[in-house]
Amino acid sequence: MDEQDFQQDSHSSAEAVSPDVRQLDRHEWWLWGFAVTVTLVLTVGIISLTFTGLHPQQEDAHSFDLKEWVRRLAGLVAARDQLFQLISENAADMIAVVASDGRRLYNSPAYQKILGYSQEELKATSSLEQIHPNDRQRVLEAAEKARCTGRGERLEYRIRHKDGSWRILESTATAIRNAKGETERLVIVNRDVTERKRAEELLAHSALHDRLTNLPNRALFLDRLQHSVTLSRRHSNYKFAVLFIDIDEFKVFNDSLGRVAGDDLLIQIGRRLTASLRGIDTISRSQVVTEDSEQLIDDTLARVGGDEFTVLLEDIRDPSDAIRVAERIQNRLTIPLLANGQEIVVAASIGIALSTTPGTEAEDLLRDAEIAMYRAKRAGKARCEVFDVAMYAHAVKRLKLETDLRKGLELGEFRVFYQPIVSLESGKIAGFEALSRWQRAGELVMPGEFITVADETGLILPMNRALLREACQQLRSWHFQFPSEPALAISANITAKQFAQPDLAKEIGLILSQTGLDPHSLQLEITETITMADAERAGYVLSELKALGVGLGIDDFGTGYSSLSRLRRFPIDTLKIDRTFISNLGSDSENGEIVRIIIMLAHNLGLKVVAEGTETEEQLKYLKQLDCEMAQGYFFSKPADQETISKLLAGNHKDITATTRLGSVWWRMVPFES
Ligand code: C2E
Ligand code: MG
Ligand code: MG
Repeated sequence: MDEQDFQQDSHSSAEAVSPDVRQLDRHEWWLWGFAVTVTLVLTVGIISLTFTGLHPQQEDAHSFDLKEWVRRLAGLVAARDQLFQLISENAADMIAVVASDGRRLYNSPAYQKILGYSQEELKATSSLEQIHPNDRQRVLEAAEKARCTGRGERLEYRIRHKDGSWRILESTATAIRNAKGETERLVIVNRDVTERKRAEELLAHSALHDRLTNLPNRALFLDRLQHSVTLSRRHSNYKFAVLFIDIDEFKVFNDSLGRVAGDDLLIQIGRRLTASLRGIDTISRSQVVTEDSEQLIDDTLARVGGDEFTVLLEDIRDPSDAIRVAERIQNRLTIPLLANGQEIVVAASIGIALSTTPGTEAEDLLRDAEIAMYRAKRAGKARCEVFDVAMYAHAVKRLKLETDLRKGLELGEFRVFYQPIVSLESGKIAGFEALSRWQRAGELVMPGEFITVADETGLILPMNRALLREACQQLRSWHFQFPSEPALAISANITAKQFAQPDLAKEIGLILSQTGLDPHSLQLEITETITMADAERAGYVLSELKALGVGLGIDDFGTGYSSLSRLRRFPIDTLKIDRTFISNLGSDSENGEIVRIIIMLAHNLGLKVVAEGTETEEQLKYLKQLDCEMAQGYFFSKPADQETISKLLAGNHKDITATTRLGSVWWRMVPFES
C-alpha cells in the first residue's frame, strides 16, 4: 500500500469504526499488543515456509495445511495494517509517520480535530513549518536522537493551530527500521496538553499571586528579592531597594465602606501603585542582564498582606532614587479614588530598606522595610522613612518589650499607683488618678515606657481591666475607712484601643457592679484626640458610658486639635488642662493667658477644671485666683502606692492648700518613685 492509498483507506475506515473514541483510547495498548503478536506469528510463518525442505517426508501430509496457514497469515498481514489504521485513525492523540528526510508520510485525522488543518494542508507544508520557531531546534534534535537510538525522549513543544493560536504538544517518537537496521521512518505520537498546561500554570500562578489584585504574593516577592540579593553579591555595584507600603487608616475605610468596597479600593490602589512604578524613568533599570531579569523588571510590586504592598526597585543608582519613588507613590495616591460612589483619598506610610547592608537576606530586608514603615507611621503617617541600624535596635527592643509585657501581665507585675487630686475649694484630697506602674525585675517602670506598646498590641485591655477592678475595690475600702462628703473619687484613663472596644460600657458596668462602687465615684479620662478621631462614634460611646452614671473628663486638654465648642456636644463633666501649660505658668505669661481663657470657657460650658502638673505654690495661687476647681501635681503628691495613700488619707482633714509650707512638708513625706 503506498502512502496515498494508506491515507485514503485511513479515511474510509475511520467512519466504519465506533465513534466512541474515548473507549478505544483505553484499549489502545491491547490493540498494539495484538499487532505485535500478529507480527511475530507472521515472522514464524515465513520462516517455516522458507525452510519447508527440511521436512520432505511430511510434505504431502502438511501441504494442504500449510497452504491454508499461509492464506490465513496473508489475512493477518492485511489485519496488521488495518490494525495500525484502526488505532491511529481513532486515537485521540495525533499520530504522524515521517520519512527519515522529514517528509510527511501520514497524519492521523486527530490533526484536523486538534489543529484544524486538513490532510491537504498538512501535505502541502513541511512537518517543521507549524512548530514554534523557538522550539524547532529541540524538535529536530529529539527526532535525530530517535533516529539513532530507536526511541526519542518525551518532548514538549508549541505548534500553531490553524486559527493562529499556539497549542502545546507532548510528543514521543519511535523509529521504524528496515532489515538492515536503518531507520526508515519515525512514528510520532503527539498529545495535546494545552489545557493541562494551562491548568498547571493557573495553579502555579495562584500559588504565587494574590487573588484580589493579581499581584505577586509574599512568597513570589521574597523569591524575586532573594534573586536580587544573590545578584548584588556577585556585582558589587548592583544596588536595589525594598519599599514597604501600608495604607494609612485602611481599617477605617474598610469598616465604613464595607468589605466589598474595601476590596475594590485595594484593587484600585494596586493599579495606582503599578502605574506609579511603570512611569519611573529616573530609575535606571537593570544593567546587569541575567536570563530572567526581563521578568523581574515587570513584576516589582506585590501585595503581601491586607493593605500592605511591597516594591522591589532594582539596580538603583542611589538611595535617593528609592525616596523619589516613594514620594511619587505618595503623590499619586493623593488623587481621589472612587469607592461606593464616594471620592476617597488614601495616604500611605512607606518604609525603605536598601541593599547596602552586608549579609542581609531577602526576609531581613523585607523586615527592615517594615520596621521603617512603622517608624514612618508613628512619625505621623503619609510619610516615608529609610531603615537604619538604630531603627533595628529599637525594633528589637520593642519586640522584647512586647514579650516582657505579656509575661509581666501573666505574672501580675502591674501595680496601681494613686495620685491625689485636691479640691482647691476645700483644700482636701477629693480623689485620685489611678496610674499603672510595672514592677519589673526590681525596678519600677513608668507608663511612658509601656502604655503605647500595650495599646498597640491590645495588651492594654486585660491590663486596664485589672487596674480598674483593683482601683474600684480600693476606693470602696477607702470610702469605708475615710468617709467624706462628697465621697472620694477615682479617675481612670481610657486609651484609643479601649475606646474602640465595642463592649467598653458593658465591661465597666460589670466591674462597677462586681466591686459595688457607686458609679458617681468613678471618672473616666479620655484624651481629646481620641474623641476627635471619629466625633460621631465618640459621642455615641460617651453617651453609653454616661448612662452608667460615671463622670467623664477630657484629659491632656490643649495638646490636641479640638476646640471647646466642638466638645460641647459630648456629655462631659470636667476638663483636665495638660501639665505643659501649668508647669510653665510662672515663667510664661502667654501660658497664663491660655490657662485663664481655658478655665473661663470651660466654666461657661458648665465644666469643672482640673489643673494637671501643679508643682509650685505660685501655680497653685494663680489657679485659685482663676477659680480652678481642682489641682493635681507634685506640689501635693507624686503618684504613690495604696499604703502611702492610706497614710495620707488619715491626715486628710486640713486644708493643705492654705498652709503651703506645711503642704510642702506633707508631700515630701511621700516617697519618690524613681
Ligand atoms: P495622664 O493621664 O495625663 O496622667 C498624668 C501624668 O502626669 C502622670 O504620669 C503623672 O505622674 C504626671 N504628673 C502628675 N503631676 C505631675 C507634676 O506635677 N509634674 C510632672 N512632671 N508630672 C506630673 P504617668 O503616671 O507617668 O502617666 C503618664 C501617662 O500614661 C498618663 O498621663 C496616662 O495617659 C498614661 N497612663 C498611666 N497609667 C495608665 C493606665 O493605667 N491606663 C491608661 N490607659 N493610661 C495610663
Ligand atoms: Mg489621665
Ligand atoms: Mg493628662
